[in-house]
Amino acid sequence: MSVFQPDSFIVSEVQPSPNLDERMGGPPDMILLHYTGMQTGEAALQRLCTRESKVSAHYVVFEDGRIVQCVPESMRAWHAGVSSWAGETDINSRSIGIEIVNPGHEFGYRDFPLRQTAAVISLCKSIYTRRGPISADRVLGHSDVAPARKQDPGERFPWELLSESGIGHWVRAAQLNLEGTTLRASDRGEAVTRLQRTLRNYGYGIADTGVFDDNTREVVAAFQRHFRPARVDGIADPSTLLTLRALIETRPAPLS
Ligand SMILES: [Zn+2]
Repeated sequence: MSVFQPDSFIVSEVQPSPNLDERMGGPPDMILLHYTGMQTGEAALQRLCTRESKVSAHYVVFEDGRIVQCVPESMRAWHAGVSSWAGETDINSRSIGIEIVNPGHEFGYRDFPLRQTAAVISLCKSIYTRRGPISADRVLGHSDVAPARKQDPGERFPWELLSESGIGHWVRAAQLNLEGTTLRASDRGEAVTRLQRTLRNYGYGIADTGVFDDNTREVVAAFQRHFRPARVDGIADPSTLLTLRALIETRPAPLS
């Protein structure tokens, strides 16, 4: 493990991870956000830099805003695992991975301090500045690309603040408890197919089976965690459906 030059001057320290290899298929065009999900940030950093763990990320952002780089952006870090977005499955090749220190759902999930969020925003801006803009709808959470396995960075992550700073695609969620169609587990039919197609059209890994199956429930929950965080229950209520429609309607044009 050789120490390398950090990609950005806002990195305060380099702690090289051995868990990396060559990217496949061109430069990254996606940013993937995680929480560390361990009791301390130091323990998480140590794990990301240990060969046996077989995991890594490009950056770790601590709660005090400190940024440590573990893998050069030019290389593929191992953070996404089995995942998919917009039909692509080698998300590690496509993305820059940022681990944000938070104990997560298992060890006492808590709000992300503003200072930490500001550091994540600065880091994303530094990536845009150096590499060119990343399409807003390709700044995603781990749960978006692996809905069956992952919950991070979770419903407390302040996507709205990122969006106000020009990072990521986000709309204000429709209010809860509206009247209207609700789709839930084991429902079937045309409305379920439409929901599945819409979610897939946005990028989620979901087939249009016409049945509200386990995968559909997991994808709806992942969508809620990111875009309608007030209630994450995997039920496509009117608020969820309206928020999804608003998201599709405000989707940015593809970058040329
Ligand atoms: Zn993750």
